Amino acid sequence: MKECEICQGSEFKDIVAQERMYDTGDIFNYIECESCQALFLTDIPADLGKYYPSNYYSFGSFNRSNALLALLKKLRYEAFCRGLSFHSPVYYDWLSPLSLNPKSKIADIGCGNGQLLAEMAYSGFKQLNGYDPFVKAAFSSKNFSIYKKDFFEIDQKFDLVMFHHSFEHLPSPVEVFKKLVTILNPEGQVLIRVPVTDAQVWKEEHTYWFQLDAPRHLFIPNTKSMEILGERFGLELFNTTFDSMDSQFWGTALYKKGKPLVGTEIHQEFSRQELTEFRNKALQYNKLKIGDQACFYYKKKAQ
Ligand SMILES: [Zn+2]
Repeated sequence: MKECEICQGSEFKDIVAQERMYDTGDIFNYIECESCQALFLTDIPADLGKYYPSNYYSFGSFNRSNALLALLKKLRYEAFCRGLSFHSPVYYDWLSPLSLNPKSKIADIGCGNGQLLAEMAYSGFKQLNGYDPFVKAAFSSKNFSIYKKDFFEIDQKFDLVMFHHSFEHLPSPVEVFKKLVTILNPEGQVLIRVPVTDAQVWKEEHTYWFQLDAPRHLFIPNTKSMEILGERFGLELFNTTFDSMDSQFWGTALYKKGKPLVGTEIHQEFSRQELTEFRNKALQYNKLKIGDQACFYYKKKAQ
């Protein structure tokens, strides 16, 4: 890359990273843009599928709720919308900065087995669509559909497009934004949850960082890169929140010990007290905006 595809910067730092989730020991090269601090994998393997073994994701079917539980979930979401919160699932927090109603047409990119869409359907949303090229088969029910399709094949328009840790698995952030603006309704909103190089663990532990995740993460932006992408494509970045978790600490510590994620029992590696400290530290890092992942909220600007 002569020029950063996001900010057109021309100075880069070379980074050599190792595949650690399965401990294959395979080596990959990233470059970090000195200007917007985005990371890009420069040698995307031709056989990337080899790094997504069958145990990577559960592509089984989603867990269904019975009629009573479904009703309780609907009531719980309605209560949350009125400011009453009890045992709220984490996705309520992700959705709360957005303007949505039950008829909002929503897409979840890289939806896996569709569990989030199923939960949103129980909460009362009626136009839910999931896209994932790796699901076994397409699926459709009253309020939601799952399509066995790549993001770039989408041919509908939405009020909200969500990427929950799928953006960094797509080949080019600029190509994604180019496509994204074409599938948004006027004033359509976007939620992107993604790892970010603002992470203190990246600054301190470098390539041991759990969420560098070579070679599955093809790029990792910085909050600066996400601002620039919004500006370039007419999307107003109206909110950014950090939602990093304890895994940034125990995952990174595991990799420093030379242990793979897959096949290691976390509760045998770390005491209960250590795990509690990691959870508290993550909350603190999120407040300081130095956690290792964030949620970016955009709105399509009126033309
Ligand atoms: Zn850049």
